[in-house]
Amino acid sequence: MVKKVKKTVKKVAKKSRKKEELSKYLLEVICCPVDKSDLKYSKSKNTLTCIKCKHVYKIKEGIPILLPPELEEE
Ligand SMILES: [Zn+2]
Repeated sequence: MVKKVKKTVKKVAKKSRKKEELSKYLLEVICCPVDKSDLKYSKSKNTLTCIKCKHVYKIKEGIPILLPPELEEE
């Protein structure tokens, strides 16, 4: 499940590589891996926050790191 999401995100991120900001399209397709809720993008912090579980996802080089909290500390 997580792998599939990551693959999709990478694909989309590649398309919008020239833009530093996260594209609207990317924001539309991605969702929280835990509860599938929408994510709120914070431009100043460069993070995505789930509107439901409030988990904060980091964005590295324009690619959101959408890992469930329990997998993040690898
Ligand atoms: Zn969530």
